[in-house]
Amino acid sequence: MTSLMGRSALVTGASRGIGRAVARRLAAGGALVAVHYGSNEQAARDTMDLIEKDGGRAFLVRAELGVPGDVDTLFAALEPALLTRTGQVRLDILVNNAAITADSIETITPEAFDRLIAVNTKAPLFIIQRALPLLNDDGRIINVSAAATRIAMPGQPYAMSKAAVEVLSRSLAQLLGGRGITVNAVAPGPTVTDMNPWMLDDPEVQRAVGSGNAVPRAGRPDDIADVVAFLVSEAGRWVTGQTIDASGGCFLG
Ligand code: NDP
Repeated sequence: MTSLMGRSALVTGASRGIGRAVARRLAAGGALVAVHYGSNEQAARDTMDLIEKDGGRAFLVRAELGVPGDVDTLFAALEPALLTRTGQVRLDILVNNAAITADSIETITPEAFDRLIAVNTKAPLFIIQRALPLLNDDGRIINVSAAATRIAMPGQPYAMSKAAVEVLSRSLAQLLGGRGITVNAVAPGPTVTDMNPWMLDDPEVQRAVGSGNAVPRAGRPDDIADVVAFLVSEAGRWVTGQTIDASGGCFLG
């Protein structure tokens, strides 16, 4: 991986799963990583410990997303921490990764739908809005989407919330390209994380899920982290406004 030495990164939802793998990967490349989490402080500390054990640098930022004042809370923690560690309040890499799933269209309530959109769609947009003045030229924004935007998952409002971040990525790419800032969405397929508790610790289920992929296994957080690592590197400078499918070829047809 091209060196990210001297770069600062914010990864939302970095306490567990894909976000943790991304945070570890960016820190391994030399970036100072803000490990954001919502409520699971122990998991966030574990991410930071893993990064430090690998010789990387990170700090924790807590903010529940999808509630009033969420972005204010996030940046109130982020900005002084950046200042203390780097002498400035600048960012090079923003990875909007934190998200939730939801019930199906048949059963979801209006309140649960509002929360889904607030966490998965509204929070990334307003985090980006707030981060823009801090973002250095040639910076990188990654919005984590889902292969579910490409594949019809029966009755999943979750996919709607993710389709919006793909469109957001494309229009932002157009806005920010003049500064060398690239904006892309990365769309994982089914990946073994807490988001899919039914897959955890069950190799049979993982095999069954993976059988729908051209590369016949379930995704692992590192599979996604490697794609993010490429996009945020210097080597990724010419890719912008795209949704990169990172699913091992999930239901290619
Ligand atoms: P996990 O459920 O394993 O982890 C979710 C992370 O997001 C945690 O760090 C959690 O923090 C944080 N988070 C969730 N809700 C909030 C909130 N309201 N406020 C603040 N933080 C929050 O998820 P994955 O690693 O599986 O998913 C990561 C991304 O990948 C998501 O965008 C997801 O939609 C996408 N994705 C995942 C797939 C999969 O199969 N796993 C497939 C396709 C896309 P805390 O630990 O504090 O709760």
